Amino acid sequence: MFNMVVFGPPGCGKGTQAAKIVEKYGFLHVSTGDIIRRQISKGTAMGQLLEKFTARGLLVPDSIILKEIWRFALEHQYEKGIIFDGFPRNLYQAQMLDRIFNKKEMRINLVVSIDVHEDELMRRVIERGKTSGRIDDNAEVMHNRLLVYFSQTQPVIEYYRKNKRLETVHGIQPVEQVASHIDAALQKRLSI
Ligand code: ADP
Repeated sequence: MFNMVVFGPPGCGKGTQAAKIVEKYGFLHVSTGDIIRRQISKGTAMGQLLEKFTARGLLVPDSIILKEIWRFALEHQYEKGIIFDGFPRNLYQAQMLDRIFNKKEMRINLVVSIDVHEDELMRRVIERGKTSGRIDDNAEVMHNRLLVYFSQTQPVIEYYRKNKRLETVHGIQPVEQVASHIDAALQKRLSI
């Protein structure tokens, strides 16, 4: 079993890269953004609550996210491993993930951080907003998402750097090239 996190700001390409890894290695893809959007599209009371946060670019409360991930994991197989995309998004989530994994004698083997500067992130998300139908893919909400990223999410990088599980990949290059750098980092850890 191999577990990893694909980490980075909104618009850096986490989802695209996670999908490629899933295709190659058969890990379970846990995208908290997708889990949340599925709940919202069901129109349940929980979905309506979640939408209040995502529509403003704010993080959904930790307790809800952890419960949703737990439920998702119970409904799926993950014997080959898990790739987390969009989680953990703050220090508490990272610590909770380690705590839960420790209990299950599992560990996060690799964290890949995709590095892209702010102007490019804004450009990509506005472009994606033309077709994605996402209520948060516009300049105003993206501005908040970036603020949240820099204040709450980016500090998680230091947590993983200290644990020597971090690899940084330059995200402004063709998708296939980013993918091959991530794959090289993965192969290196797989052989340890
Ligand atoms: P992106 O990384 O491009 O911002 P996501 O699809 O990962 O997009 O997330 C969309 C929204 O879902 C976030 O802005 C936030 O409101 C919510 N969300 C996703 N993951 C988490 C998480 N781990 N904790 C709290 N909120 C989350």
